[in-house]
Amino acid sequence: MKEKELTAYRQAGKIASEVRKWSKSLIKKDALVLDIADKIEEKITDKGARIAFPVNVCLNDVAAHYTPKFNDETTLKEDDIVTIDLGAHIDGYIADTAYTIDLSGEYTEMLAANKEALENAINLVEPGASVSDIGETVYDTLTESGYKPIENLTGHEVKNYDLHAGISIPNIKVPYDWKLQEGMVIAIEPFATDGAGRVIESNHAEIFSLKNIKPTRLKEARLLLKEIEERQKLPFAERWLTKKINPLRLSLVLRNLVASEILRAHPILHEKEKGIVSQFEHTIIITEDGCEVTTR
Ligand code: MN
Ligand code: MN
Repeated sequence: MKEKELTAYRQAGKIASEVRKWSKSLIKKDALVLDIADKIEEKITDKGARIAFPVNVCLNDVAAHYTPKFNDETTLKEDDIVTIDLGAHIDGYIADTAYTIDLSGEYTEMLAANKEALENAINLVEPGASVSDIGETVYDTLTESGYKPIENLTGHEVKNYDLHAGISIPNIKVPYDWKLQEGMVIAIEPFATDGAGRVIESNHAEIFSLKNIKPTRLKEARLLLKEIEERQKLPFAERWLTKKINPLRLSLVLRNLVASEILRAHPILHEKEKGIVSQFEHTIIITEDGCEVTTR
C-alpha cells in the first residue's frame, strides 16, 4: 500500500475511533435518535474527515440501515438496545466501526460474547487467513454463549470510495475459501442475536446510493444527482437532502430514481423473529505479518 493511502486510512480510523468513543455519552434515555445521528455526523466533519455513510442508529430487533428521517421523533427508551454504526473517510479511504449499548442491562452476556467474537476474529487476521475460518470463529464464540450470529450479514472489504468492495467476511463457516492478502482493508462486523439469526428487509429505506449514472428528465432529480454524484458510490441519507427539495417531493423523486435504476435503496433490515441484535465492528489493514486495526 502506498504511504499516502496508509496515512489516509490511519487518519480516518483515528477520527472514527475518537467519534465512536465520544458518541457513547449521547446514548441515554429520552435522547432523540435524530440528534444522535446529526451530532455524530457533525463531529466527523469537525474533526476533518468526511462522512462515509449516514450514521445508523439501530434499536432492538433492527440490525442495519436505520438512519433517522428528517423529522424523526423516535427517542431512546430505558430498555432499548442501541447500536451505532459510523463511518469516516479521508479522500475516499474509509473507516467503518460500530458498537452496541444496552440500556436495559439484560443483554450484558450477549454483548460480551459479541465483542469477544470480534476480537477472536481479529486475532486470525493475517495474509493467507481463510475468511471461512474467521466466520467459524465468530459462529463458535457466539453459539458457545447461547446466541447466534446473523448469518446473512457479513463484513466486507473496503476500497477507495467503495464501502462494500471485493470479498465478504462471513459470520459463519462458509463453503468457499477466500484468503486475505497483504494490503487488503477489511471491516469485520459480527452481529449477535437471541432470534433466528437472519435478517429480512422492510419495505422502507432512508439510505440510498448511486447505482448507474443515466440521464433523467426530472429537473429536481438532476439537481439532486449533482450532489449525489459528488459522493461517488458512497451511501447518503434522505434527510441530508430535505434542504434542497421539500420532503414530500423528495421522497417521490428518490423512489423514481430507484425505479429507473439510477439509485439503489438500502431498506431497513430487521431480525426475522424480532430477536434483539447487537453489533461490534472494526476496520483492519492486512499487513505483511498480521494486521493493524485502524479504528481501535
Ligand atoms: Mn459499519
Ligand atoms: Mn461495515
